[in-house]
Amino acid sequence: MKSSNHIRPYYKEIDQILPQRSADSYTKVYLVWHDQLQVEYFPEWVREERPLLLFIESAHKAKSRPYHKQKLMFVLSAMRHFALECHQNGYPVWYESTSQSFEQGLIRLLKKYEHWQLHHMELNEWDSIQALKQVQKQTNRVTTYRNTFFLADIEEFEDRIKKGWRMEFFYREMRRKTGYLMEGEHPVGGEWNYDKENRKKLPKNLNVPEIFRVEPDAITLEVKHMIEDWFPHHFGETSSFAYAVTSDEAQRALEHFLQTRLHSFGPYEDAMATGHSVLFHSQLSPYLNAGLLSASMVCEAALSYSVQHEIPIASIEGFIRQIIGWREYIRIYYHAMMPEIRTANYFGFTENLPQLFWDADTRLNCLRQCIKPVIEDAYTHHIPRLMVMSNFSNLTQTNPRQLNEWFWFSFIDAYEWVVLPNVLGMSTFADGGVLASKPYIAGGNYINKMSDYCSNCTYSVKQKTGDSACPFNYLYWNFIDDQRETFQQNGRANFMVNTFDKKNVEEKKAIKDSAHKFLSQLARKWNN
Ligand SMILES: Cc1cc2nc3c(=O)[nH]c(=O)nc-3n(C[C@H](O)[C@H](O)[C@H](O)COP(=O)(O)OP(=O)(O)OC[C@H]3O[C@@H](n4cnc5c(N)ncnc54)[C@H](O)[C@@H]3O)c2cc1C
Ligand code: SF4
Repeated sequence: MKSSNHIRPYYKEIDQILPQRSADSYTKVYLVWHDQLQVEYFPEWVREERPLLLFIESAHKAKSRPYHKQKLMFVLSAMRHFALECHQNGYPVWYESTSQSFEQGLIRLLKKYEHWQLHHMELNEWDSIQALKQVQKQTNRVTTYRNTFFLADIEEFEDRIKKGWRMEFFYREMRRKTGYLMEGEHPVGGEWNYDKENRKKLPKNLNVPEIFRVEPDAITLEVKHMIEDWFPHHFGETSSFAYAVTSDEAQRALEHFLQTRLHSFGPYEDAMATGHSVLFHSQLSPYLNAGLLSASMVCEAALSYSVQHEIPIASIEGFIRQIIGWREYIRIYYHAMMPEIRTANYFGFTENLPQLFWDADTRLNCLRQCIKPVIEDAYTHHIPRLMVMSNFSNLTQTNPRQLNEWFWFSFIDAYEWVVLPNVLGMSTFADGGVLASKPYIAGGNYINKMSDYCSNCTYSVKQKTGDSACPFNYLYWNFIDDQRETFQQNGRANFMVNTFDKKNVEEKKAIKDSAHKFLSQLARKWNN
């Protein structure tokens, strides 16, 4: 292991990696990005020729935003494990640790080793793509390969997606392309989408399976101490870290999901329950996004399991849709919409993020229950992210870019390419409707229907206005009234304005008074 003089991390095992020959003797260098951690997906020649594998660990990147400590533990530990694994499998490995950015570190090395020809796989993050283009411009020594961790080609779909082509149609095309859940030209079971069957509330006595956990090993513990030392003020806690950090462990997480949760994935996909941040979801996003698993690997394992174990079509179809539909679509949307999308703010909201996003200290039980696991484990499933957190952010007129930053630094699976479309496109309508057909907002009734939160809340979900009423109730109508033009222009949503307008004068005044009082007293904080 080669490290720069700028910083001295606590290497033990990883310190023992050194290229067998000196760096001068290599011409072909393959750069391994932190989210491409599987040799099988590298270009074939890399496996045959075994060039020098270059890893860059950047402290600059780690401190660029207050990333959740577990996120940093996960990314760094997975990268170090993978570097060691490559070394053990006979690859020459150069592990560069730098206080600079990835790109600065890279340029410094390319200047030092003028004969290096750099090869790497297409990236997702916009800033790194631009930086690599610059490096290529300056040196003419960079070769880029197609990213094989994903299934869809960006160029094929980006123009349509930019024009508002919806996920559902993209998904059908991906089904045809992959042949997943197809019988010839037709979808298995006769329908493309079984979402309407996937909205059940969790029955009281249903047994929720244990989540998959891995005991942190010496490398992860070393990284943990380093993170605690270097970034004590970053978001979140470290004590409960139990994520997989190698592709073998991630594979076990996948098998665990298939055996314990895939069967019920569909029906309870939208459900939320106290003490269960995963429920019947897979919690595979950290591994997919770090490249410890790939899209095809996960889909093929799930499809083969579903055939052998009679998994209901609504569950297997719902799961496959998340990966070949949503995940692939989101990635292309990001590439199609960057960089302008970064500043999108359709409603022009400027309020700071509510304080409760930082500490979960609130009387709104749904938000307390949904944010607590984010602080503890950097994860909660899709519906708390959308229906509770983003919904509250919208209803409280919060700057969507701050919400995007918060999701980005506080979730284990967040990388700009995936968090930004989900926040600025799907959940806040900041893009003005390119990704979603209408703004995502809901009142307390919907949260009550899909969870057990309201029965333990100091607010009453039945009450519509006043100090003890559920804030989601009056904030919802207040939002519709304030943003009436947007809803009136939307065929699917203009009935909401009509419903508000039909309320009597006293009711409307009570809604507006309650909303103004709540919003004026809401504590907010933004110090990123
Ligand atoms: C506001 C908001 C922010 C989000 N931020 C992220 C993020 O930073 N990183 C991230 O990976 N996902 C993000 N998502 C999407 C989704 O919530 C997570 O992918 C999912 O909750 C991960 O948990 P899981 O692995 O248990 O998913 P499952 O429900 O088991 O789904 C299986 C897989 O499908 C993929 N998937 C499902 N929905 C989406 C989606 N909308 N976008 C991309 N992939 C999807 C994921 O890879 C996931 O692992 C966000 C959603 C919202 C509403
Ligand atoms: S009553 Fe309202 S604030 Fe309380 S948990 Fe239910 S939806 Fe959330």
